[in-house]
Amino acid sequence: MIKALIGYGVSAVLLFFAVLFALASVYAPMRIVVSVIFFFAGFFLLYIVWKRQPTKIVQKVEVPGKIEVHEIKCPNCSASLDIRRSQVTNGIPTIKCPYCGHISEITEEPKW
Ligand SMILES: [Zn+2]
Repeated sequence: MIKALIGYGVSAVLLFFAVLFALASVYAPMRIVVSVIFFFAGFFLLYIVWKRQPTKIVQKVEVPGKIEVHEIKCPNCSASLDIRRSQVTNGIPTIKCPYCGHISEITEEPKW
């Protein structure tokens, strides 16, 4: 979401310069070329941001079917862990043991 906001901000600046150069082209006709470049850059950036918008990061753990079958156990105290308590930290799905507080990464191939 922050990236999209930056994208909108930068494209707004680019379009602002495009308008500025378009107005300035009254005095120097070559500036219309710069204006067109800014216009294209601005709209291209808007297009990229708009296209990327639907693929925003969803805080949802995609648990592979393999893990759902196996029981997840804490590698520290071997207590069984509830997969529904898992959280996404820095893009890595993790689960915190409610008994000992050990945080384990949920990987496709469980090491425990
Ligand atoms: Zn534990």
